[in-house]
Amino acid sequence: MYRALDRFFGPLQWWPGDTPFEVAVGAILTQNTNWANVQKAIGRIKERGALSPVPLYGLDQADLEELIRPSGYYRVKARRLKAFLEVLCEGFGGDLNAMLAGELQDVRRRLLSIAGIGEETADSILLYAGGRPVFVVDAYTRRILERHGMLEGRHSYGEIQRRFLEALPPEAELYNQYHALIVEAGKRFCRKEPRCGQCPLQGISKGVRRAGKGGLQATGSQSCSSGKKFLKRGSGKNVTRSS
Ligand code: SF4
Repeated sequence: MYRALDRFFGPLQWWPGDTPFEVAVGAILTQNTNWANVQKAIGRIKERGALSPVPLYGLDQADLEELIRPSGYYRVKARRLKAFLEVLCEGFGGDLNAMLAGELQDVRRRLLSIAGIGEETADSILLYAGGRPVFVVDAYTRRILERHGMLEGRHSYGEIQRRFLEALPPEAELYNQYHALIVEAGKRFCRKEPRCGQCPLQGISKGVRRAGKGGLQATGSQSCSSGKKFLKRGSGKNVTRSS
């Protein structure tokens, strides 16, 4: 799957953002909205000259809410951002590198202990802002695996993530590109009504082997079925995340 997607899309160079801090802010704001709205919110923060930890932390709640209003759910997101900034500024003097350094699971647990930061957001911050080798699972990942018969029944975030971690070498660069490729495939093709006919993953299903010394190997032994069949599985949730 990786090879097919990578050949089709090429390097995607995620995550859009001028600094790791901007990436972390974007990861928090992108929950339940599309990327265009996040960009508007980030643009307003930039115009205010507040896109760095201490100035952003220094804004009062109402100001912060107003700045990020375009990202939707702005009251909730302002609280989440404040909670993240409190740990970053009070615990690490505003040094994001320091906050994301150290034993990976400890850092991940610290992020997850912040109110409103779930696994996908924590892992996005770790991978895209911190360059840590963590695989990000999102709704598109689940949908694509389900539609290709690689997931049966409900699986937790951690179970899906483990499949990738066990099958891939622990390389942040690879995880960065793979998640970006999955999101791109989800947005372009694996929508509520799948467009399998144009999708680079058509024809690939079960049979993905573990990566050996030679890298990833996919057998592509079985084609996926028609979109109509997939929709019956109830995986047609409208995925709004687009970053
Ligand atoms: S081939 Fe179809 S089901 Fe598979 S990822 Fe593409 S659009 Fe989705």
